[in-house]
Amino acid sequence: MEDRSVSMLRANVSSAPIAIFVAAVGDWAYKTLWGGGVVKAVFDIPVLQLIPILLVLTVVHEAVHALTWKALSAHHRETHVRFGINWRYLAPYAHPVGRLPAWINLAGGLAPALLLGIGPFVWATSNSEPLVAGIALLMVAGSAGDFMIAWQLIGVPMRTPVEDRPDRVGVIIHWDATHRATR
Ligand SMILES: [Zn+2]
Repeated sequence: MEDRSVSMLRANVSSAPIAIFVAAVGDWAYKTLWGGGVVKAVFDIPVLQLIPILLVLTVVHEAVHALTWKALSAHHRETHVRFGINWRYLAPYAHPVGRLPAWINLAGGLAPALLLGIGPFVWATSNSEPLVAGIALLMVAGSAGDFMIAWQLIGVPMRTPVEDRPDRVGVIIHWDATHRATR
């Protein structure tokens, strides 16, 4: 068993530069193609409109996690998905309870970044839609924590059982010292 998780505090501190990097690269890519900035397009929206949009998208983000984990783990009866809000960090979360093969943890972990972020960003950038591109970019940046967990799974064979930690950010890998999966 190997615990690769990090504390919520450490995850929050490390995800900030990832988020800023993602926003900067996306903004630069869009500007190079179309001339206008997408980050500016987002911050031109009145805050009172932007906040509800982001709240709804945050809930959708967690729902995409949950639905993907549920759909892919349908035959793992001992697994279920728990929803909640971490009040200390004001972060809503969806969390798979129980062990899952690494690939299911990874697919469900990255699904929101792909479906709500990278996919729409590519579409919006090809179609010159700065506002959609900007919001999509925020969704990619907001997936920084999910990228950190994906990073922890690098080098782990995709059938190895892993367990998502509810109290920290990351996974416990159920393998022995020789990296053989354990029950
Ligand atoms: Zn997420």
